[in-house]
Amino acid sequence: MVRARSVGDPAALPVSRVARLVGAVEYGVAMPTPTTATSASAPDAAPTATPPSALSPSRASDFKTCPLLYRLRAIDRIPEPTTPAQVKGTLVHSVLERLYDLEAYDRTTTAAVALLEPEWSRLKTDEHGLTDLFDDPAAETAWLSEARRLVEAYFDVEDPTRLAPADRERLVEVTVADDVPLRGFIDRVDVAPTGQVRVVDYKTGKAPGPAFQAQALFQLKFYALVLWRLNGVVPAMLRLLYLKDRQVIDYAPTEDELRGVERTVVALWRAITTAAAAGDFPPRKNPLCNWCAHQTRCPEFGGTPPPYPLPTAVPGA
Ligand code: SF4
Repeated sequence: MVRARSVGDPAALPVSRVARLVGAVEYGVAMPTPTTATSASAPDAAPTATPPSALSPSRASDFKTCPLLYRLRAIDRIPEPTTPAQVKGTLVHSVLERLYDLEAYDRTTTAAVALLEPEWSRLKTDEHGLTDLFDDPAAETAWLSEARRLVEAYFDVEDPTRLAPADRERLVEVTVADDVPLRGFIDRVDVAPTGQVRVVDYKTGKAPGPAFQAQALFQLKFYALVLWRLNGVVPAMLRLLYLKDRQVIDYAPTEDELRGVERTVVALWRAITTAAAAGDFPPRKNPLCNWCAHQTRCPEFGGTPPPYPLPTAVPGA
């Protein structure tokens, strides 16, 4: 399954600014992997309707934005069109992940760019429907050039020859508050010789303006919460890398802050399970409706949602 990246994401709104909120820590030496739980199963992989099984940052964001959107994506699992912008994000992430398979001194811009076409061929082989993404070879060439510029931009914000990630594209899962399952993929985890942990997320869009920065950081605070609850150590730094405008946002979370995130996600999960039991997921019009693939199923746009696919609890039973 292609993991959607930054399309319709407020984090893609433009801003020219670097926010460095904490001091530098050297993350250049490989350390043992933190004790994190992993699983071979991918979230949201099943094509058929299913009750909510875990909360991820993107599904939490969906529910907060529009409960009906959450339902159509997480319960009905109605497929959405794959766009070139989404796949470009997947490709760039894939190249940056593979880059760290190389020896440190081989991680050059040239080597990274050379990974683009093989990774694109691999994605087309592995992921259903990608061979039909472009009708026009010239459009595919232009798209690959955009992906190349993003990969090149990465070298302006980090020096991969000086980094030794402890993990890449890691699936992490934990249960908090006894029965609230959390799950997500972390692009990269760095561990300094001091043991300090940094959680890194690559974005192929532009850095957000101040109004959307909290929303952009929510995803990383969610991951920080999961790692903290798994390992007992609060990550020292959360890093967002925005490749389109070569911006870096570093943020140092506190334990109190992660407790607040935990309260938020527990409340969200309780609201989702209550809504799922009742089959009650109302639409909520919002600025992202313009990018929503489900307008034809949405009452706000004159559509009708499909029948709710799960059994509902009988009030008073
Ligand atoms: S179009 Fe409808 S379902 Fe989609 S986000 Fe907007 S309100 Fe929600």
